[in-house]
Amino acid sequence: YDDRDGYIWMDGEFAAWRDSKVHILTHALHYASAVFEGERAYGGKIFRSLDHSKRLHNSARIMGFEIPFTVEQLEEAKREALAKSGLDSAYVRAIAWRGSEMMGVSAQNNTIHLAVAVWSWGDYFADKMKGIRLTHAEWRRPAPDTAPCHAKAAGLYMICTLSKHAAEKAGYADALMLDYRGQVAEATGANIFFVRDNALHTPTPDCFLNGLTRQTTIKLAQARQIEVIERAIMPDELATFSECFITGSAAEITPVAEIGAHTYKPAEISHSLVDDYTRLVNGKMDLAL
Ligand code: PMP
Repeated sequence: YDDRDGYIWMDGEFAAWRDSKVHILTHALHYASAVFEGERAYGGKIFRSLDHSKRLHNSARIMGFEIPFTVEQLEEAKREALAKSGLDSAYVRAIAWRGSEMMGVSAQNNTIHLAVAVWSWGDYFADKMKGIRLTHAEWRRPAPDTAPCHAKAAGLYMICTLSKHAAEKAGYADALMLDYRGQVAEATGANIFFVRDNALHTPTPDCFLNGLTRQTTIKLAQARQIEVIERAIMPDELATFSECFITGSAAEITPVAEIGAHTYKPAEISHSLVDDYTRLVNGKMDLAL
């Protein structure tokens, strides 16, 4: 991703894409002191941009640092980066991290940096409307007193990349992660929903990200009078659901056709929520979010 034309906004100005670099002794590279956002723009407008910018600031605070640009400055940076990309539909990656002044676990005096990159990113999963295949991840989501699980923090993605790579090597698109208690949690970069008897069931986000797409999906379902039940879901229930899908800013709403031995058939509820989400992000539907 580094050797290409374009520009990246970093610490208040644009630099050429291929010259946008950090030093080897960047604290974030060694100790994962970075927080980030993944967002999508549709028709030149970033969906739920302000919520993403606020979440980035909140993630930074959870990690013990303050981003030296306000939410409004970040909003402006994202608008400018999107405009400069010339793209209408795009993926937007904002990231904040601890710099390189001090080396070691402690980095109290390191400057905090902020960057925004925008590029074209099609569907997160190939052929996603057919329904993707998930396997079971070997790694579990940590407990809230083991890791700062509500921050969108780089360090939490170590187990996601491990799980995703293992899944891909075994021929699957992604993996279902359980939490520290053995309850169903989420995929490696998206939340999960199930359908049973025309109601949606989704795990309570008490040890993983309560994704913005998850929250949007719940509102879309409620607008259709579909009952949404947030609760603890055990793996032995996987056989009892008829439909399944995952949600995320990159994944949008992606139907799931299989989790290990269990198969699902994307049907009316999955299809109507995918349609609603598409209309909503493209500004063709009103919904109080
Ligand atoms: N869980 C994880 C681990 C993720 O990386 C993401 C994507 N940010 C999500 C859930 C979904 O979050 P959102 O809908 O806000 O993109």
